[in-house]
Amino acid sequence: MCNILQVRWTISPKTSPQPWIACSGCGSPRPFRSSGKIRLNANGKRLDAWLIYKCIDCDKTWNRTLFERKATHDLAPSTLEALQRSDPDWVRAREFDLDGLKRKAKRIDEPPDVVIRKEALQAPIDWTMLEIGIAVVFAPNLRLDRLLASELAISRSRLQALGDGGKLKAYPDHSAFLRRRAKDGARIVLDLSDATDRQAIGEAAADSERS
Ligand SMILES: [Zn+2]
Repeated sequence: MCNILQVRWTISPKTSPQPWIACSGCGSPRPFRSSGKIRLNANGKRLDAWLIYKCIDCDKTWNRTLFERKATHDLAPSTLEALQRSDPDWVRAREFDLDGLKRKAKRIDEPPDVVIRKEALQAPIDWTMLEIGIAVVFAPNLRLDRLLASELAISRSRLQALGDGGKLKAYPDHSAFLRRRAKDGARIVLDLSDATDRQAIGEAAADSERS
């Protein structure tokens, strides 16, 4: 297809989920943010591991138990090494483990700020259709219409009108997709053949520097 500007947006949340924990410093439940640091305690051949969180208001720490009294030889050497150096990727996977967090906290805030890397995969000069592929590792707390509106610099009412007119489609398609979270593997196709500001939208879609 030679009339499609094809871009990929790789989206990652900037701030990890923040569980609300009863804070002894503040005297009330407060959101806690991850410090990114693992604390280990070796007891003979057994190991305890915590991820350290801090109250966003008073910095009081909360040690989130990752495991307790685990036999060291049950841990893969790579896991042990990741724990010992608070490997950022390993820690991040724990930070975004919402099921695990829900066992510790009733309320979890998911800040909607994200980092988006945009790449143009195919950019024919006379394009009229814009196809956006979404790649996410940890699902951002961000509605698709808000994401598209802010990243393409167009209004949500215009997006809605494009959708109503059959000029905005999403795959895999389902109703109300614009109000749902941006998901990994989603594709959005906009027919901009009638749009006079097509070039500006295309630049916004393909260029990370603009956002
Ligand atoms: Zn506090």
